[in-house]
Amino acid sequence: MSVQRVGVVGAGTMGHGIAQVFAAAGIPVVLQDTTAERAAAGIARISKNLDRLIEKEKMVASEKAVILTRLSATHDLQQMESVDLVIEAASENQAIKLELFRALDGICPAHAVLATNTSSISITKIAAATQRAERVIGMHFMNPVPVMKLVEIIRGMRTGDEVYRLVHGLTEKLGKVPVAVNDSPGFVANRILMPMINEAIFTLSENIATAEGIDAVMMLGMNHPMGPLALADLIGLDTCLAILEVLHEELGDPKYRPCPLLRKMVDAGLLGRKSGRGFYTYKT
Ligand code: NAD
Repeated sequence: MSVQRVGVVGAGTMGHGIAQVFAAAGIPVVLQDTTAERAAAGIARISKNLDRLIEKEKMVASEKAVILTRLSATHDLQQMESVDLVIEAASENQAIKLELFRALDGICPAHAVLATNTSSISITKIAAATQRAERVIGMHFMNPVPVMKLVEIIRGMRTGDEVYRLVHGLTEKLGKVPVAVNDSPGFVANRILMPMINEAIFTLSENIATAEGIDAVMMLGMNHPMGPLALADLIGLDTCLAILEVLHEELGDPKYRPCPLLRKMVDAGLLGRKSGRGFYTYKT
């Protein structure tokens, strides 16, 4: 089976980036979100990303034009009826994902592979919402998608070998590096990253240093390219909280309990870059 057309569900932080890398690799993409405005905003973000590449002389205007012709935006999930692969990148919420996979299973052709970009939720559980568990897989891209090389490839309990090989090969065609990971809460990336981010938030809430101070320690002292609080803002504080809740609930260890300050900031709508304010303030 070859992938001629891809669907991306959810046009937010991750969805728009995933759509961009597929379109740049020559594969037509339909980008879907709950409203036509949100889906169109995803395409507008791609257009801006490509403008930055042109400014840096990494792309010419005619290439951008060709990439944009490969992208279409919609609010209508039914448009997934003609794709060979779907990558679901909707909000990190189990109920939303199970409902989407149930619906996609009914809409997509029988041969289509249904992949999820979930950061933490069980691939096995998501697959069980469909009648095609052997064609469901985790394809966990990193943020920002066009820049980051890693894709964690996660097999659910019933994911087939053929589907694994297809997704592994496709990831390499996108210029990314696939790493096989077993199905476990948070997989590898967030099992390790989120406790660090959570601890940074506890450190801030206990007034051990300022946000700038904490980030400076981790950048200058540990050689991290970005501090944990700036990274939390980039990921989205709502997404960080959702991932920590999955780790806490599924692994049952109190070390994963989300810091109360993180919860309070999410309640206040301070979600990081996507809302204009988190641990830092951003121009929206
Ligand atoms: P986001 O909040 O930026 O975007 C989520 C989008 O999903 C929104 O546009 C929302 O309208 C849309 N959405 C919600 N319900 C939907 C539905 N039923 N149908 C279609 N669209 C729907 O979130 P994000 O950061 O892009 O995260 C998306 C997924 O990617 C999550 O599973 C998250 O865990 C994962 N992820 C996030 C990061 C990160 O750094 N932000 C990294 C890797 C993976």
